[in-house]
Amino acid sequence: MDLTSLRSHNDRAVLRLVRSGALSRASLAAETGLTPQAISKIVARLMAAGLLEETGAVRDGGRGKPRMSLRLVPGGAYAYGAYVDRDELRVVRLDLTGEVVSSPVVPLPPMFTPGDVLDALAPLAEAGEEVLGLGIGIAGPLEHRDGVVSPNGLPGWSSVPLKALAEERLGLPVVVDKDTNAAVLAEAWRRPLRDAALVFVGTGLGVGLLLGGEVHRGARSGAGEFGHTTIQLDGPLCVCGRRGCVEAVHAASTGVEAARVLAAAVTNLVQLLDLDQIVLSGRKVLESPELYLRAMPDVDVSVTSYGPDLVPVGAGLLVLGELF
Ligand SMILES: [Zn+2]
Repeated sequence: MDLTSLRSHNDRAVLRLVRSGALSRASLAAETGLTPQAISKIVARLMAAGLLEETGAVRDGGRGKPRMSLRLVPGGAYAYGAYVDRDELRVVRLDLTGEVVSSPVVPLPPMFTPGDVLDALAPLAEAGEEVLGLGIGIAGPLEHRDGVVSPNGLPGWSSVPLKALAEERLGLPVVVDKDTNAAVLAEAWRRPLRDAALVFVGTGLGVGLLLGGEVHRGARSGAGEFGHTTIQLDGPLCVCGRRGCVEAVHAASTGVEAARVLAAAVTNLVQLLDLDQIVLSGRKVLESPELYLRAMPDVDVSVTSYGPDLVPVGAGLLVLGELF
């Protein structure tokens, strides 16, 4: 589907407003400050593209002409999101509203190669023209813009041009980002987050940072390598080659002690960036959320509501989110 003509600022504003609740053309004009004529044109264009539909008449106060309420067409567009974890590939298909339509999991062989991942993704190539693209979440370090990845914990993966390889194989636009950035985007899709960290404790440990409502990637897409900040001088050796990183100290601890290690590191992060919301996620946290919640500093702390689909959903939203 060619949606390039729909990516104007005003079109996105209208889609965003309709996403937050069914609205009439008149209320869209009031909310955006655009003229009713301009709104009518935009709505007509979005309806022709199959993204918006009328749900029926609403009467305002019983007088005047009833107004047609608008909503997103869930099947109007789809996006794929994939999470390349250290032992499996999780894929989701999202509809236009960001809901998961399907979520297959493909086990990956030990020491899997980029070719193995592309083979597993290949069936998505038969996606159909309403698919906007594929987002891939993977561990850092990586270069977000070019989609070149050298993920920690995946031996043999060094400077892999994942975006280019996947685009060539699938014939779809591909966006690559860190798993943690995808994850924080997924959380921000469901509820308002502004200055927040999503702490991801899976096979590795990292954060996705949202500062002023925007994903913070840093100068070289390297922001959020929270797991490799030092918390214990001369501590245990880490996969990154240094000693006493949060990831290594946390991995060497169990139960309450592990939760306290993470809490100390999160407290440093809150102090540094003046965050007011922390979202905990990842397999380790989901195994014993109460333990981690009790140990955390005194800000708004919650556990993700997504479960294991968190990263793939966020990866899909990297693509879908461009419409909003
Ligand atoms: Zn480290």
